[in-house]
Amino acid sequence: MPMSLFPANFTGDPVPLGVDLHMHSTASDGALAPADLVGLCAERGVRLMALTDHDSMAGIDEAHDAASRLAIRLLPGTELSTRWHGINIHVVGLLPQGASGALALGLQSQAEAREARAVDIARRLEKVGLHDALALAREQAGPHRPLGRPDFARALVAAGLVPDITTAFKKHLGNGKAGDVKAYWPAMSEVVGWIVDSGGVAVLAHPLRHGLTRRKRGLLLDDFRETGGQAAELISGFQNADVTRDLARQLDERELYASVGSDFHFLGGHLAPGSMSPVPRTAVAPVWTHPRLAGFLQSANDPA
Ligand code: AMP
Ligand code: MN
Ligand code: MN
Ligand code: MN
Repeated sequence: MPMSLFPANFTGDPVPLGVDLHMHSTASDGALAPADLVGLCAERGVRLMALTDHDSMAGIDEAHDAASRLAIRLLPGTELSTRWHGINIHVVGLLPQGASGALALGLQSQAEAREARAVDIARRLEKVGLHDALALAREQAGPHRPLGRPDFARALVAAGLVPDITTAFKKHLGNGKAGDVKAYWPAMSEVVGWIVDSGGVAVLAHPLRHGLTRRKRGLLLDDFRETGGQAAELISGFQNADVTRDLARQLDERELYASVGSDFHFLGGHLAPGSMSPVPRTAVAPVWTHPRLAGFLQSANDPA
């Protein structure tokens, strides 16, 4: 697969790029097993993908086997939970060399943080009437993966306390609500360091999804860049074209690379692997042209 299949810049061509660098599997809160997710990517014409489960790389080996069979480029990745000025900020690590050193330890501590946080969330949800909250969330998640807020959301729905997942987040788990427990996550700057020291590219995930003003988003991007972050998601799923152009300006000013991803979790919603708003014409460089990734794309499992 020659490099030219992944454009060196964004020309504003509306044709899908065949690139999706943000997706979830059953290794975190996604519905598809890693191999099934890769299979769906192949069906949908995604040729370069990253599996970015929350605080975990447990699905990477399975995904990699499937990707090799289907001649898809798989970038190992993860989406790490962090804290920045009291906000829960997600940082995607694109990790051509996998996780080593501080990041390997960090993934362990994130899993432990998730378990401790789940106990805390459960205690808080008991107070709004979800009895046995921890066991109910575990029932939703199954035995194999660390608990996340969606497991508590489904438990609240199953118990009849809220009509649907959206309401569960709106009333109990979303930003600023009782079940939104951030204290367990490390500082954004620390997590960026883990990724960079592992030879990876740190990507600020979905910068438009925090309800920040343009100015505050600029401060976030400044801090992210200053602590060594190299890229941000210019496109996350579907978003307004004017807002995208404005975000592109903010990335350009800071010489951040642009990543694109669907943030796909499950079928049946409006998202699918590779489905996202088109990238407008912009001077911002695609993240796959970053020196740390370009080499990986030229050499790794080249189907020729
Ligand atoms: P956690 O990683 O455990 O903090 O849970 C955050 C996850 O919950 C996100 O990655 C989404 O998958 C999901 N989520 C967040 N907000 C909502 C929402 N309003 N409705 C549905 N799912 C959500
Ligand atoms: Mn999620
Ligand atoms: Mn996220
Ligand atoms: Mn995500």
